[in-house]
Amino acid sequence: MPVNNRIAEFHADMTEWRRDFHAHPEIKFEEHRTAAAVAEKLKSWGIEVHTGIAGTGVVGVLRGQGDSGRSIALRADMDALPMDEEGNPPYRSLNPGRMHACGHDGHTTMLLGAARYLAETRNFDGTVNFVFQPAEEGGAGARVMIEEGLFERFPSDTVWGIHNAPHMPAGTIGVRPGPLMAAADQAFLTVRGKGAHAARPHDGIDPIAVGVQLYQGIQTVVSRNVDPLLSAVVTVAQFHAGTANNVIPATAELKLSIRTFDNGVRDLIEQRIRALCDGVGRAFGCEVEVEYRRGYNAVINPAETAGIVADVADQVVGPKMVERDTAPIMASEDFAFFLSERPGAFLWLGGGAPGKDYGLHHPMYDFNDEVLPVGASFWAKLVETQLART
Ligand SMILES: [Zn+2]
Ligand SMILES: [Zn+2]
Repeated sequence: MPVNNRIAEFHADMTEWRRDFHAHPEIKFEEHRTAAAVAEKLKSWGIEVHTGIAGTGVVGVLRGQGDSGRSIALRADMDALPMDEEGNPPYRSLNPGRMHACGHDGHTTMLLGAARYLAETRNFDGTVNFVFQPAEEGGAGARVMIEEGLFERFPSDTVWGIHNAPHMPAGTIGVRPGPLMAAADQAFLTVRGKGAHAARPHDGIDPIAVGVQLYQGIQTVVSRNVDPLLSAVVTVAQFHAGTANNVIPATAELKLSIRTFDNGVRDLIEQRIRALCDGVGRAFGCEVEVEYRRGYNAVINPAETAGIVADVADQVVGPKMVERDTAPIMASEDFAFFLSERPGAFLWLGGGAPGKDYGLHHPMYDFNDEVLPVGASFWAKLVETQLART
């Protein structure tokens, strides 16, 4: 794979770091060992280090040659997932119930590789902020870093993020202007019926019967209410009710995951779910409580910055390996919080290869170490382009 030659020289080191992170996964806001290792490496290369941002977040600050006043933030996430690893590599997770199943071990390593190279060469004019964030998986670590003054403390003109993509061939880079990943919301519905003896249904209001109507109604939200040219997913992922065969329970609970790209569609789905709960509840003479939680926003790349990514990628991996209009996916990413603060872009780095094609969050997933120098080379080239010396 075409990469920066100097970075290729420390491919073996990067592989060792990645595997060490993989063996010691830590979940949201508990990334103490990982953060300490990141801080120690950055310091050893002469990079100014700031720790304790959003708890375990780390920012490295590196100044190049010249005094252009320009600045750039490069982001990697450090957290693992609360799950058991089923694969058995020599560097298998040593922490039960913890696994790097989303490749954040690789993201952290690629940014470290770039930091080492950039500290050594300093062939840029301006300031690079290396942002190592905690808690991407469900903890909104990006938002916490922003709330704790990330961009005030470390002024950055732009912000950029890479996610590995096992669904794309190793070494390819994918980006697109517009939505790349979806907004993710949740709804918690509680049907408040009336419990009764299973043999005396006329004495109660069966919340299971109401919940089933609700479930059916919810299936029409995307199919009958959302413009078919726009995308959305509404999944009823949990339906709980009852404890005994001879009892009609008093309540039933439905838990939903909702994914959208478009804000209008996002609002429409919330309105429709609330209306269905209200109407179905009234039809059956009971109350349906709705707790609706808005989660991460959609990751939407501005056209200009998506173009910059594609142009830099062309130089690193060659145009044949660059997807300029890669397919979006309905998973979500808290990088969206950074993009609502600063211009920038999010991109995919393909990692798929035989034996390396398990999806993200799969218990057999493992980051493909072959692409470590590709990601680090992309970061280096992006900095040398965005903060080019004049
Ligand atoms: Zn993930
Ligand atoms: Zn991830």
